[in-house]
Amino acid sequence: MVDLDREVAGIRCREVLELLSSYLDGDVTESEKRRIDAHLLECDHCLRFGRDFAEAIGALRRELRRSPALDQDVARRLRERLAKE
Ligand SMILES: [Zn+2]
Repeated sequence: MVDLDREVAGIRCREVLELLSSYLDGDVTESEKRRIDAHLLECDHCLRFGRDFAEAIGALRRELRRSPALDQDVARRLRERLAKE
């Protein structure tokens, strides 16, 4: 069981996870990026989750390029996976 309200490096796990896709897109502010970087260094859960998430996003994008029809299926599997966390 993971406590998403745990605060590491001035940012909570919950916030890191919310910002993760923007973070991976380079779409966060400098101060957000610094806090997330620092958080990931200290927090094994977010680091592991972030790595899985980055892989899932990468796979999703590859699938979308290949076949837009897979969008719904991949999105559903992502949601199921996120719900399990
Ligand atoms: Zn965390």
